[in-house]
Amino acid sequence: MEKKVKSPMSFNDFGLSSEILKAVSQMGFEEPTPIQEKTIPALLSGKDVIGQAQTGTGKTAAFGIPIIEKIDRLSNSVQAIILAPTRELAIQAAEEMNKLAKFKKLLAFPVYGGTSIERQISTLKKGVHIVVGTPGRVLDHIERRTLNLKNVKIAVLDEADEMLDMGFIDDITRILKEIPETRQTLLFSATMPDEILRISKRYMRSPEKIRIPSETLTASKIDQIFFEVKREDKIEALSRLIDSDDGGRFLIFCHTKKEADDVAGNLKLRGYGADSMHGDFSQSQREAVLKKFKEGRVDVLVATDVAARGLDISDISHVVNYSIPQDPESYVHRIGRTGRAGKAGVAVTFVTPREERQLRLIKAVSKADIKRGKLPTNEEIMEARFTSLKDKIDEFIDDKSFDKFLKMAEGLAEKVKPLEALAALLKFQLQGFEMAEKGGVSGVSGVSLDDTGAPQGMARLFMTIGKEQNVRANDIVNAISRKANIPPSAIKKVSIFDTFTFIEVPRDSAEKVIEFMHQSIISGRKVTVAPARPRTDTRR
Ligand code: ADP
Ligand code: MG
Repeated sequence: MEKKVKSPMSFNDFGLSSEILKAVSQMGFEEPTPIQEKTIPALLSGKDVIGQAQTGTGKTAAFGIPIIEKIDRLSNSVQAIILAPTRELAIQAAEEMNKLAKFKKLLAFPVYGGTSIERQISTLKKGVHIVVGTPGRVLDHIERRTLNLKNVKIAVLDEADEMLDMGFIDDITRILKEIPETRQTLLFSATMPDEILRISKRYMRSPEKIRIPSETLTASKIDQIFFEVKREDKIEALSRLIDSDDGGRFLIFCHTKKEADDVAGNLKLRGYGADSMHGDFSQSQREAVLKKFKEGRVDVLVATDVAARGLDISDISHVVNYSIPQDPESYVHRIGRTGRAGKAGVAVTFVTPREERQLRLIKAVSKADIKRGKLPTNEEIMEARFTSLKDKIDEFIDDKSFDKFLKMAEGLAEKVKPLEALAALLKFQLQGFEMAEKGGVSGVSGVSLDDTGAPQGMARLFMTIGKEQNVRANDIVNAISRKANIPPSAIKKVSIFDTFTFIEVPRDSAEKVIEFMHQSIISGRKVTVAPARPRTDTRR
């Protein structure tokens, strides 16, 4: 099919002020995104707009730029209000607005609950031009008369579908009543359920509907693959996938909250730095998880569709549809979370034999080119890990600051051939349970030795060695007894699974056992040892 070739638009084409153009260029925006291209002119001309585009398409600047252009800096009153569903999104939007407004010297101020209202009041008193807030807290300020909306010219409902899902409809209605009807009203949403259209009829004046269909956003930079996997093999498949990309950052999608918790729990048990996030999470829990992910303390985030909405995480290398999305729209939405900011991304979909029809539907409707993939073998994973280790070693060699270790190396070289010493080090680093380095004890952190599901006086520990490594209960008991110096009879209930083992040790020796056994070698394998999680049925 031939596509019409259109020369890309430039920010210069909108007739914007030099201050905005300077800010946009400083932010590194080269050209407007599709939603910006259509929305900015409509807003500048005074129209109400309903915008629908997927997360990460630059909606904030799409409404932010015209808002900033329309504000009178000399009038010290709130002239624009943006309502957002969560504190995190309000802060993000305010930050983006302040960057855009930098040379105009306007102030956008976020107000949200869960934090001191007094400090917000004092800033509001000093005068801000743009308020970005969550509906509850905004209403609170209105009721306290610490926020006056009588001079508001533009009101934005950002992530409107999510605000509805969160039950903010009444708050929003009450806030809109405080704003003069001469205002411009904008509504942005990733999806357009009927209720949103009803609201738009009631509160907007002949809005222009701008919809950027998701498929034009399915960046060609995303490599789309599907794996045929049986349900019971999914966890193993996911582990291999994660192993094959050392340093990758994964967003895993599940159907249900329970599935998300189970998958994250399972990954933790296997030693990965994983966390789940879903609709039951409070705002502060969400933020804590996100923070860990952003700081790289966790590199696998397991989420439901609802929880992942509105998330602004830009460096996801892999999106994995652990459960196949229910509709093509949602597929496009999910995979759009990778391949952002010009980087390449991989989208993997697990398809059970019964879900093949669903896959065909997704392919047909979203016109996605999803290729059949093959899971990497253990050898391929090893190869990939070796290459990545080699790169790191090269870096260390270039860096040359290893004087302290040269002495140790000399000591080693006196006893063994250098090549053998090197091979042993490589084995130590690469063999054993592949993910030992990835998560280590921190991967299951948050589990206390007093809460491992063991009987009184005992602690249950998890070890990354199992039947696949041909290890027997006796080997484990002997190794622990010898290394941690506790009698073999003190070690109870050794349950060996394919790739991991649970044991129970006296609570007062548990720290010692972990200290001596974690990252030690049993039957030629490096193992990770950590407090076990209480079994799911006894959890919480
Ligand atoms: P949305 O609200 O649609 O989810 P955001 O407004 O949060 O998306 O924008 C996502 C990211 O894209 C932000 O980091 C933003 O700074 C960046 N961005 C916005 N517009 C552009 C542009 N024209 N070019 C490059 N990056 C942009
Ligand atoms: Mg947004």
